[in-house]
Amino acid sequence: MSRKVEILSVGTELLMGQIANTNAQYISKRLPEIGLGVFYHSVVGDNPERLRECLATALSRSDVVITTGGLGPTQDDLTKEVIAGALGLGMELNKESELSIRRYFEKSGKTMSENNLRQAYFPSGSVIIGNDEGTAPGCIIEKDGKCIIMLPGPPKELIPMFNRHVLKYLESSSLTPLTSKFLRVVGVGESMVEKKLFSLVDGQINPTIATYAKDGIVTIRVTAHDEKGIPASLLVSDMCGKVRSILGDAVYTDEDEDLEYTVLRLLSEKGLTFSCAESCTGGMLSQLMTAIPGASRVFKCGMVTYQTSAKTDILGVDGDIIEKYGVVSKETALEMVKRIAHMSGSDTAVSITGYAGPAAGDEPVGRVCIGMISPGCQNVKEFSFTGNRDRIRVLSVVNALDMLRRSILHID
Ligand code: ATP
Ligand code: MG
Repeated sequence: MSRKVEILSVGTELLMGQIANTNAQYISKRLPEIGLGVFYHSVVGDNPERLRECLATALSRSDVVITTGGLGPTQDDLTKEVIAGALGLGMELNKESELSIRRYFEKSGKTMSENNLRQAYFPSGSVIIGNDEGTAPGCIIEKDGKCIIMLPGPPKELIPMFNRHVLKYLESSSLTPLTSKFLRVVGVGESMVEKKLFSLVDGQINPTIATYAKDGIVTIRVTAHDEKGIPASLLVSDMCGKVRSILGDAVYTDEDEDLEYTVLRLLSEKGLTFSCAESCTGGMLSQLMTAIPGASRVFKCGMVTYQTSAKTDILGVDGDIIEKYGVVSKETALEMVKRIAHMSGSDTAVSITGYAGPAAGDEPVGRVCIGMISPGCQNVKEFSFTGNRDRIRVLSVVNALDMLRRSILHID
């Protein structure tokens, strides 16, 4: 069953319209990512009686109540005390918080008043949420199947606490029996993935879909909770099927694994061997492949032919081709891959030659040519990558692996 979350913001300033309730907005935006729905927002001033009333209402209709504000040291900061009272709990000193508050004042040279120590008292049985940006820690209390999470008002304190602790807490608690699957996509940028999946993502609460991109790979997280008797795993696999039908072969795995693992596994399943000739990536591809246990069944040889003379004298590329088309050209990349496949006697091979920058002269930094050979197939592509040297090198390797992957995917 879907759990109901209510955000109860405490602060007279909010009621007076002096500040906007950006905390509630922020929290509401983040919770659907872990499959929790926010059903109510409420706001109350710094008044114990009315806060008690609002809390009672919130607890009567919601499973999780997240309060913001009123955790500070002053008299009008009363959230914890009122909540403890309403739940019939006492207030307990938390030694660790006391110590960190004392340390904070020693460090900053400010004088500490006894009031400041109020911030180290919490409703009995609370889990404390550390506050790295200020002195008022938050806390979580679970009682009678309900969960109350108290966070401070200042957004610069609330946001890191929410991200570092609250999301994880909720995700691992029984309140969110979530199932997630991670699909990884290569060869399509994040904005294009988002565009293609827009109709699936738009307004979606269960499952939720989130994307993030790193080093040429877009990861899509699909998360669901059980709903109306349908198990979360079924909702997730159904959604993954829809994502796959839209993105096709660009989805290289639903096992949350790095691309080189998928490629090595594919090669191994099909009984194919592999070699590569690298230039600007300086052995990065060989390193990735050989870092995988069992690579020796597949990986035969990796050559780093960095200077032009190494490409001609060692790899045996025809110097006239390099002379005529340039060292970073499709023609040179194709010769490189043919030579390494031939010399090593491998079933598949890849070559990479490019300008990783930064520019020394008028080289077109980011131009990379990649050659690929597999049974019955040869391919060569020119790319224009953007970014710094590291990024260009990483993107070169990712795309080389992807060209190989796509070509062997459908070989029987
Ligand atoms: P402090 O220790 O600073 O007193 P607190 O937890 O007691 O923190 P409040 O006193 O309620 O929080 O609010 C402190 C400040 O935090 C407010 O002046 C305001 O700038 C900001 N703030 C409080 N509530 C919200 C909110 N819901 N959305 C955005 N900002 C808020
Ligand atoms: Mg305050």
